[in-house]
Amino acid sequence: MKHQHIVIVGAGLAGLVAAQQLARTGLRVTLLEARARAGGRILSEPVAGQQHRADLGPGWYWPELNPRLAELVRQFDLADYPQWAQGASLREGADGTRHTIRQSWIQQPESMRLVGGMGALVQALLARLDAVELHLETVVQSVALTPDAVTLQVIRAGQPQQLTADLVISTLPPRLLAGLQANPPWPAHEQQRWLATPTWMAGNAKFVAAYDQPFWRDAGLSGDAGSQRGPLVEIHDASDAAGQVALLFGFIGVPAPMRQQMGEAELHRLALKQLARLFGPQALAPRWTTLKDWAQDPYTAQQQDQQPLYQHPLYTPMPLPQPWAGRLVLAGTEFAPEFGGYLEGALASAHAAVAQVQDVMKEY
Ligand SMILES: Cc1cc2nc3c(=O)[nH]c(=O)nc-3n(C[C@H](O)[C@H](O)[C@H](O)COP(=O)(O)OP(=O)(O)OC[C@H]3O[C@@H](n4cnc5c(N)ncnc54)[C@H](O)[C@@H]3O)c2cc1C
Repeated sequence: MKHQHIVIVGAGLAGLVAAQQLARTGLRVTLLEARARAGGRILSEPVAGQQHRADLGPGWYWPELNPRLAELVRQFDLADYPQWAQGASLREGADGTRHTIRQSWIQQPESMRLVGGMGALVQALLARLDAVELHLETVVQSVALTPDAVTLQVIRAGQPQQLTADLVISTLPPRLLAGLQANPPWPAHEQQRWLATPTWMAGNAKFVAAYDQPFWRDAGLSGDAGSQRGPLVEIHDASDAAGQVALLFGFIGVPAPMRQQMGEAELHRLALKQLARLFGPQALAPRWTTLKDWAQDPYTAQQQDQQPLYQHPLYTPMPLPQPWAGRLVLAGTEFAPEFGGYLEGALASAHAAVAQVQDVMKEY
């Protein structure tokens, strides 16, 4: 079993965890990632001139609900801190009227942030991948079954290459998986289900602004706001644990095609104008801003993800029938047995994939 070669496609949370766990069992593990960085939807950008990082993908986890993630945070000795929620929250009507709600938006159970952003988790995993061959900027284009192996065609540093594995784990969101060439072709029923399965948060965009002071806190505001006017529909404080690097972030409510028409500069301008409407004129003078539009990121979003999602889809595992069963294992949060869509789902899917690989490998 030790010499079997497992190729994992995608170095998001699911791929990183599956790689770490399988390499520990002595298997040869290769991890292929299309982007120039690991982490996938986890993306923590350094705030200019500061130690703090802004989460442009996931920022929260819920220790009471997310036992796998809480365990990883504990194992890696990562520091966390609660989402700031002290002070009043605001509601903005479609006509721009502003209401103050005495009590802040309270997340039950409590949501936590990681010091260094969610990217701290990715760094901790990367530091434990010594035994794994990690290839960044390697785009998997096709998978094919041969009698005793799986071959993958990839483009690596602009050059086509072929890899051979005994077993492949895909951690791609279902719609990206559906776009891979397969031989034999994907079963039609499964491929249709994958195409109909939205990638969680793929159509979203986040705006972040950094300030010298958390001036909203001084005014008795938590930084939480909900708006029917926009462009930001949900706003929260994303400052560091000490409140010294002061950040506000918001989800942009403008649908993806309209965001494209408006352009980033206009979205920045309107977002700051809105923050000033809600929190005061200091909001017009950030020291740094950034915007991440996931709908424009081809390694997360597809054409079908451009329309907004109004509710959390029901994600379920979709195991592959023969002849793919036992040769290609599907992981990634959209294939999770529970908590699909969330970081916890990515972990649940990775654990399930590792168990399946170990079962198959017993027969080798
Ligand atoms: C804006 C936003 C906010 C979110 N907030 C939260 C939150 O607060 N809490 C929470 O629990 N969850 C949140 N989520 C969801 C969370 O980010 C995901 O559940 C999790 O990161 C998914 O991990 P994954 O490994 O399953 O998938 P991904 O992170 O999508 O990993 C898939 C990987 O495959 C790679 N890839 C794609 N195509 C190819 C190819 N052809 N070849 C090779 N590699 C390829 C991608 O680059 C990527 O690295 C949020 C997501 C977003 C976008």
